[in-house]
Amino acid sequence: MAQIIDGKAIAAEIRQHIANQVQFLKTNHNLTPGLSVVLIGENPASQVYVRNKVIQTTNAGMNSFHHQKDATISETETLDLIDQLNADAQVNGILVQLPLPAHINADKIINAIEPDKDVDGFHVVNTGRLTIGLQGMAPCTPLGCVELMKSVKADLTGCNAVIVGRSNIVGKPLAALLLREHCTVTIAHSRTKKLNEVCMGADILVAAVGQPNLVKGSWVKPGATVIDVGINRIETESGKMKLVGDVNFAEAQHVAGAITPVPGGVGPMTIALLLQNTVRAACMQHGIPLPD
Ligand code: NAD
Repeated sequence: MAQIIDGKAIAAEIRQHIANQVQFLKTNHNLTPGLSVVLIGENPASQVYVRNKVIQTTNAGMNSFHHQKDATISETETLDLIDQLNADAQVNGILVQLPLPAHINADKIINAIEPDKDVDGFHVVNTGRLTIGLQGMAPCTPLGCVELMKSVKADLTGCNAVIVGRSNIVGKPLAALLLREHCTVTIAHSRTKKLNEVCMGADILVAAVGQPNLVKGSWVKPGATVIDVGINRIETESGKMKLVGDVNFAEAQHVAGAITPVPGGVGPMTIALLLQNTVRAACMQHGIPLPD
């Protein structure tokens, strides 16, 4: 039976470590890292995500600045807000909650954020830095995936990693992070031929697709580490809604060496790594070494 990777517990440890770092920065450098979150419109899922981000930022001892804007705000007004936050020394990290209303170009807004304050790591400059191995901000969910993998095996050198899904927020940045860890990386996607065979070669198998139970137990190499990024809401036979991942957990847990559950795997890691990026951003902006 596979080891279940407890993302909830690992995320809690990271948050505690961040709270200690924040306390150190306050005491020794008179610096309180600050995160601004911009939420436009009333998307209920976005409201829940933003509420959690605000609570966890405050719990870590950081300043949280919340900017709730009406869905009718124009693109120009949104860009003006980003300019203000870029210029505000109290704000070390800026996060614009996606999706944005259709009349606002998300790429334009993301790329208006000062790259060193782009704690989501979506700015093209940070994408470029990540790809060529320069220091910068990497996206939080892929960073969380790497932490989970390293909780099982500290040195990933030489591992065959297969990532199913090639999105800009998960699949592609995760591939860049795993190259940094000296893995041999394959990105599979909707046009990949013989996906099952590609997956069967993976020492580390990541599913980031958004299709419930796509990855079968028979696709998993015995002993592999399986990281399930997918979050899918499905209806059970009794008519209740439940969350499942992209991996058929019931099957895969008998084959894998270690596996993340959904919920409680990758999900809790994303905000923890967002807080970590904010502390890193604050230190970089003030020329302070990151506390241990
Ligand atoms: P996306 O829709 O942007 O990309 C999905 C990818 O899956 C595409 O690259 C596509 O080529 C690939 N794909 C689609 N069908 C496929 C198939 N049949 N076989 C192989 N590949 C296929 O998705 P995303 O934004 O990367 O998100 C993926 C999943 O991860 C979603 O369920 C999302 O909710 C979840 N997610 C979770 C977190 C988190 O835990 N914090 C963060 C981001 C995304």
